Amino acid sequence: MADIPQDDFELPGVPDSFQRLWTPHRLAYVKGGQEQYAGDNRDPFCAAPDRSDEESLIVRRGETCYVIMNLFPYNAGHLLVCPYEHISLYTETSEAQMLEMGELTKQCMWTLTKVANPGGFNIGMNQGAVGGAGIAQHLHQHVVPRWGGDSNFLPIIAQTKAITQTLGDMRTQLAENWVSSAPEPAEGKGN
Ligand SMILES: [Zn+2]
Repeated sequence: MADIPQDDFELPGVPDSFQRLWTPHRLAYVKGGQEQYAGDNRDPFCAAPDRSDEESLIVRRGETCYVIMNLFPYNAGHLLVCPYEHISLYTETSEAQMLEMGELTKQCMWTLTKVANPGGFNIGMNQGAVGGAGIAQHLHQHVVPRWGGDSNFLPIIAQTKAITQTLGDMRTQLAENWVSSAPEPAEGKGN
């Protein structure tokens, strides 16, 4: 369990240098976030599962890993798959964690496809601070849905309250429509 400076403390999310299509200001989370996590010096991915799904924006809990909304999304529906255990590198995962990260990644894709029908995804893990990880000490896999002309799909939201609301609404929508096994291929679709 690594301690992190209090200054860095915030709700789970991965701020970094990517150009985002949708950029909620970090203050968007601070109101509830800092009170909620005050005095807790664990990193956000260790702390989040102790709160309710609604508070932490957790979409799905598995046995060894869970899925959470990224508070610094590159796009609407940007999810993170994290082990509960505080490990930083993919090479440190147990077999169970590795399998469940993979399984939950598939479920994220199925669920996002059902709810928001993206045209594609970006999936990946930044390993270590030099690899671009915003919270390098706790492993997380990004699942980012992509649409052709992404920026047109997304609402431009300037107000703090609206952003928080939007993430909360998206969490609810994904959680309630979670797809945990391979969907039947739709007739006349795919090959
Ligand atoms: Zn951690």
